[in-house]
Amino acid sequence: MKLYSTRNKSYLASLSEAVMQGLPPDNGLYMPTQIPSLSPTFWGNLAKSDLPEIGFHVSKNLFGNAIPEADLWDICSRALTFSAPIVTIDDKRHILELFHGPSLAFKDFGARYMAQLMSYFNRSEDQPLTILVATSGDTGGAVAAGFYKTPGIEVVILYPSGKVSPLQEKQLTTLGHNIRALEIEGTFDDCQTLVKQAFLDQDLAHKMRLSSANSINIARLIPQSFYYFEAYRQLTPSDADLAFVVPSGNFGNLTAGLFAQHMGLPIKAMVAATNVNDIVPNYLVSGKYNPRPSVRTLSNAMDVGAPSNFARMQDLFSDLDGSTWNNMKKTVWGYSYSDRETEVIMQKVFAEHNYTLDPHSGVGYLAMNAFLADHQSCRAVLLETAHPAKFLADVNRILDTQINVPDRLEKLRLKTKNATLMPVNFEALKDNLIQNQ
Ligand SMILES: *Cc1c(COP(=O)(O)O)cnc(C)c1O
Repeated sequence: MKLYSTRNKSYLASLSEAVMQGLPPDNGLYMPTQIPSLSPTFWGNLAKSDLPEIGFHVSKNLFGNAIPEADLWDICSRALTFSAPIVTIDDKRHILELFHGPSLAFKDFGARYMAQLMSYFNRSEDQPLTILVATSGDTGGAVAAGFYKTPGIEVVILYPSGKVSPLQEKQLTTLGHNIRALEIEGTFDDCQTLVKQAFLDQDLAHKMRLSSANSINIARLIPQSFYYFEAYRQLTPSDADLAFVVPSGNFGNLTAGLFAQHMGLPIKAMVAATNVNDIVPNYLVSGKYNPRPSVRTLSNAMDVGAPSNFARMQDLFSDLDGSTWNNMKKTVWGYSYSDRETEVIMQKVFAEHNYTLDPHSGVGYLAMNAFLADHQSCRAVLLETAHPAKFLADVNRILDTQINVPDRLEKLRLKTKNATLMPVNFEALKDNLIQNQ
């Protein structure tokens, strides 16, 4: 398998280079040179395949011989250890629950698979690899859980003191083993600056092997295509056209759906659901891509003003005849909603279907309804990106109830935080890294 940079298609990297570097040197994004169709055998066996099997065949289809089959099988079966069940609301509306992993959000799929791939590519190194991550909350939790006890890899997470939710803080600071948390007396931007400084520091580069767990690493995107097939497997056959509705921020999840479509999954439409940070829905209407600073909303994991995967979406639609915009509009639909509208639909779905949506899926549910109203021949699968208990205070307030909290969250509350408090000071970070390696 080879990957090119979206900024320069003649710059080619191997899978291991792309995974270990995260970003090409020109700051584009890595894209596979080919996204081949899956074989008739895959489709023939799909009905009785489980998620690790789907993951194996889809990976193999993309990777070619980059990883021997036995190793690839190990990677998939270690990463894909939880289910992605479909809940059916009515014959047109289905919900794919992607929150059954350790951090209760779909990001677990990407983080766990990336951890396994990195560990594999790192296997013959003597020195451990240290992954440095700055987090404002959500990504750090998935990365911490994803890399937990991964051989040969140490993880150091920097988070802004007092600026992540108590639950998020527990997800970052209670695992132990190869996961260390540094509580920085500053903002998320300070954390990010410290991490960038660490990557540029020559002295550190000589003393330890550092890498990032960047959210736009291709290793996080690929496993997000697996559950589109898993959804399709669970649906009863039907003549209706299939649409997937994706609550979106950086558009990684939606881009992974486009990968699945390229591999032959019969997807008629990908529906982008956003909150008021509606850069992509606006682009679909006007043809103009105008990133702008993000606005804070109830569905805060989608508060993104410059979606990082947009370059990949454009790339996928640029190779065909006609303009990228026109091509994208044939497959991708966009809708955006306010917090008020989101609260109302969460109440409605709770009252009418006794189903609890989290705020992100609330935005998605509205988009699903709007899309289906305009497309009578379609049925839709909404990706439910997080467990409602992740946003407990908001969800309880909106629904005026006390929703169930899964056991693993309840247990987390009782665990003791273990983090090193540190000023915004690069020398202090550097000393800490060197002393603890
Ligand atoms: C990250 C996240 C999103 C946005 O996903 P993208 O791939 O960035 O578009 C949506 N919902 C939840 C709960 C998330 O954590």
